Amino acid sequence: MKRAVLVSLFLIIIGCFLTACKVQDNTKTNGEGEGVVSGTFRGEAKEEEEYILVEVMLQENQISHIEILKHNETPGFEKAMTQLIDDIVAKNSIEVDGISGATKTSKRFLKAVENAITAAGITPKDLASSNELNRKTDGESSKVDCDILIIGGGGAGLSAAIEARSQGDDRVVLLEKMSFGGGNTRMSGGEYAAPGNWVQTSLGIEDSEELFFKDIYEGGNKKGNKELINIVVQNALPNAYWLRDFVGVEYKDYQSWYGGHTVSRTLWPVGDGPKYVDTLIDKAVELGTDIHYNTRAEEFICNEEGKVVGVRAKRSGKTIEYIAKKGVILATGGFGANVEMRMKYDTRWNGLDESIPTTNSPAIVGDGLIMAEKAGANLIGLGDIQLYPINNPATGNYYFMDYARLNSNALLINKNGKRFVDEKNTRDKLSNEMLKQPDAKAYELIDSQVVQDMNLELLYEGEIAKCYEQGVLVRGSLRECCDYFDLPLEEVQKTIQRFNSFAEKGTDEDFGRTKNLEKIGDDTYYMFSCIVSVHHTMGGVEIDKYARVLGTDGKPIKGLYAAGEVTGGIHGENRLGSLSMPDTVTFGRIAAQSAKKMK
Ligand code: ADP
Repeated sequence: MKRAVLVSLFLIIIGCFLTACKVQDNTKTNGEGEGVVSGTFRGEAKEEEEYILVEVMLQENQISHIEILKHNETPGFEKAMTQLIDDIVAKNSIEVDGISGATKTSKRFLKAVENAITAAGITPKDLASSNELNRKTDGESSKVDCDILIIGGGGAGLSAAIEARSQGDDRVVLLEKMSFGGGNTRMSGGEYAAPGNWVQTSLGIEDSEELFFKDIYEGGNKKGNKELINIVVQNALPNAYWLRDFVGVEYKDYQSWYGGHTVSRTLWPVGDGPKYVDTLIDKAVELGTDIHYNTRAEEFICNEEGKVVGVRAKRSGKTIEYIAKKGVILATGGFGANVEMRMKYDTRWNGLDESIPTTNSPAIVGDGLIMAEKAGANLIGLGDIQLYPINNPATGNYYFMDYARLNSNALLINKNGKRFVDEKNTRDKLSNEMLKQPDAKAYELIDSQVVQDMNLELLYEGEIAKCYEQGVLVRGSLRECCDYFDLPLEEVQKTIQRFNSFAEKGTDEDFGRTKNLEKIGDDTYYMFSCIVSVHHTMGGVEIDKYARVLGTDGKPIKGLYAAGEVTGGIHGENRLGSLSMPDTVTFGRIAAQSAKKMK
């Protein structure tokens, strides 16, 4: 995705519109010389109802860390702020491009950082230039020893950390390249499929491990690894209890459903992915995990026998060697945000270039895969890249409002006003059909009864307000909706009539939909435009049942374990929705157990 906003224009606009405000000067050591500052400073930017509060850590005029303390931006826009943090820390400058599709959020964010710098008593121009930084760090390096080293602070890495610290007293260090943890897990709804879970029991839904296995295996076009799927299947429920009762994740008392699952079996955490991840981080820290943020692992360190004994990482331009006595766990996620790798490996979609956005965090660029390949790991299934079908064209992120389609009744229509698919089908089938439609676009239509029944206006108030601003959502009569998106009203009316006649008969003669085959109302509607985005990369490092990384010779690489999206081949060609959490938790925990025993 190209970012086209010019910095100068950016700063002028910020200057004109945003209210600057200096919040708090926490710690300040100014002994290094005139205009040279270290410490932690807060800055806030407010604009009408919107606000962002950040904390910036300065070390001798170098930004070492930025924390977002508070904001009320749309959840998906955290991705933009995360990317900005990365860019700012890497350049040690706020003269970075805004993120396209999130220009207002970018402006507010940069203003908040600027205000924090001003609160330190310097100006952005006083930040050390990259030449100065290079001089400062030249030749410097340091070393950190631990027992277990985890790379990546998403769902898998954090589960591994909690497991490693909850059994015994190993020193566990987790490296996270961003200034806060979570990766794609933070971007998600945190949904967790578990057969036989407590919500199913309360609703009287019958389920079994056999049915769960069948759904996963068939959902992956029977190309998944049966042994590893079985491990996920058998551990999904015990690990759901572990999350709830040991880690402290709070779940809603209702479930969600995703295409490909025969029954509803998906637990849904309160506060979605962000709260889920924060609960995991809190637990990992409470148990004594050392999390080193802004620290990017770059290469494995191997001993003379080829055993992985640590990694070389970079923080603020400085190289640090982390040495792990027992093992290194790779949990860096996939490569959905790396266009070059998508183009190189994709075998299904005929080119996933930069015109296709991604739902991924900008951090998810395949670092771990590149490192592992160099260390001799076998990479499998890289060509299987999952697209998510229903995303906001302004951000590339999924719509939370789309829960209406998943859990109730909605129609997907194309530019010609026609349905083109069973709306309840799996992600890859929907994406496949969407790409064949005019402009590769669809429009989701939800009637007012469903909006009311699902409490969408209250639950997704923030998202709805943003979507209006972005011009991707309209509410009104069918005519108003069609006019807004330039769709042919008569065709849309015919499509609804035809669908309603199927609902009456109980048979969808066009696309065979069976779930929520109910009539669409004739009052007012919500309609939003949708595009596909790159969502999940099914391929990655090959692991065995102990989460040991296998080399190209089929043998485990000593000292190296992996879990989560960085691993490949478990699910086959497609991963069903809400399977990521059980996978990351299961193999995260197994990887920790194996590393502890040096299996
Ligand atoms: P998973 O679901 O497999 O846990 P996530 O996407 O949730 O994957 O998390 C992966 C995490 O790994 C992200 O927080 C990301 O920032 C982090 N990460 C990716 N590459 C590196 C790296 N080279 N060094 C440290 N952390 C990394």
